[in-house]
Amino acid sequence: MHEHYCSDPQNFPPDKFFQKGVGKGKIVLIIGESPAPNGWRKSGKAFYTTKGKLLPTGKNLNKLLIKYDLNVEICGFTELVKCFVGKDRKLLSSCGEKCWSILVKQMESVDSEFLIILGVKTLELFNKLSKQSLEIGKIQKAKIKDRFYTVLPIYHPSPISPIGHKRNIEIFSKLDKEIARVLV
Ligand SMILES: [Zn+2]
Repeated sequence: MHEHYCSDPQNFPPDKFFQKGVGKGKIVLIIGESPAPNGWRKSGKAFYTTKGKLLPTGKNLNKLLIKYDLNVEICGFTELVKCFVGKDRKLLSSCGEKCWSILVKQMESVDSEFLIILGVKTLELFNKLSKQSLEIGKIQKAKIKDRFYTVLPIYHPSPISPIGHKRNIEIFSKLDKEIARVLV
């Protein structure tokens, strides 16, 4: 079962699947790949289940962010692909391409300066659609449309790939000073 929004990106409600950052999290926009089956598609709240429980992906992200007084509740969050494709991951490229203008609009509608991109596939799509060559584990500047962003791509924090979270811990500890500087 799919849920597609890519056929009419112009009329996609700008606040749908878009959590705006608040307070210290205002400048941070975390960009996931595509909506999870059990996340905010169902609950309306990013990283939370319908029963109000924080999903494991959110828990792992919070472990990385807490040091900077941030968490997934106060950071901005959205996904690159707005469609729910279930297990048909081959659709991600075409849906992502058609949804790209929605993401750019969302990025521009808030004060996002620091983008955290989650996962190899998300980064692959992001690079292709923004014509960048960003790398996982490196903080880089990127100009997207008319704005400059500081971007940190990391591995997907989902515990489905246990090595991802471990590597993210290493990335954050290696880049700690740089991250702290951006998030001051
Ligand atoms: Zn689609």
